[in-house]
Amino acid sequence: MRIGFIGLGNMGGPMAANLLKAGFDLSVFDLSEPAVRTAVAQGAQRVGSPAELAAADVEVIISMLPAAQHVKQVYLGENGLLAKVQPGVLLIDSSTIDPHSAREVAAAAKAHGNPMLDAPVSGGTAGASAGTLTFMVGGETVDFERARPLLAAMGKNIVHCGGAGNGQVAKVANNLLLGISMIGVAEAMSLGVKLGMDAEVLAGIINTSSGRCWSSEVNNPLTGAPAARGYSGGFGSDLMLKDLGLASEAARQVRQPVLLGALAQQLYQAFSAQGNGQLDFSAIVKLYQQG
Ligand code: NAD
Repeated sequence: MRIGFIGLGNMGGPMAANLLKAGFDLSVFDLSEPAVRTAVAQGAQRVGSPAELAAADVEVIISMLPAAQHVKQVYLGENGLLAKVQPGVLLIDSSTIDPHSAREVAAAAKAHGNPMLDAPVSGGTAGASAGTLTFMVGGETVDFERARPLLAAMGKNIVHCGGAGNGQVAKVANNLLLGISMIGVAEAMSLGVKLGMDAEVLAGIINTSSGRCWSSEVNNPLTGAPAARGYSGGFGSDLMLKDLGLASEAARQVRQPVLLGALAQQLYQAFSAQGNGQLDFSAIVKLYQQG
């Protein structure tokens, strides 16, 4: 099966590599020449634009782009996919964008005769490389089943979340909670240490008590792996800021209060403004270590 892939960045690059390893033929497009060259060295064929990719003989097109503006440009733009793609070609967008934009692009695709799935992921760059991503998928059941073998080459947990946009809803809700829980753990850990406790002992208590969560156990801001390597790598604070912004915007559209989410967004915004956007999001604990 020939697949088109657009967006070969930190996530898309290793995802495309796993599709090649699984034996799929890949035609690829990215604005970054080094990213394309890496994929070509792994066996992919290059094309010059989304429209050229659409005109190629592909059955499925997957995109993995930074944000909604790039997704809209690639799908709806003048030289975009929908201008040229054959009806029936399955479109899968794995970028993390707001549910409203995902539904807008899916509706345009449907009007053009193309089924579309939103399929954002969790698992980070490590999961992308290992082929162990979780895919949260929105769209029709029949299209989900068609996509499943492809997604299985890149992930191990593939969940149908409902109609168009619901994959993004799941992603936004999860990352809203993740951002809030990380700040909560940072606050509690900082208080305990300031009051005289050893961080490792306190983490051990929390992780066998009712305060335990992923942020305290796997990615603890004082004792976890990113902390041990100076908060380099991992899930960047700017990416968390982006996802909290998506949650806040999605909440505004349906007049749903996200009180702690708004505060979490502001804390990550302040942290990013201090030049920390590239640090793992557990580094937010530094806000509690000032003064
Ligand atoms: P990235 O910036 O590393 O990669 C994006 C790629 O898209 C780049 O290679 C860029 O050149 C390309 N691109 C941008 N505009 C383009 C266009 N118009 N046409 C073709 N190519 C274009 O980003 P990433 O880390 O791979 O993240 C991609 C998406 O996955 C984002 O929505 C992000 O929020 C989400 N995500 C990232 C992680 C992570 O840990 N990095 C985890 C889960 C989800």
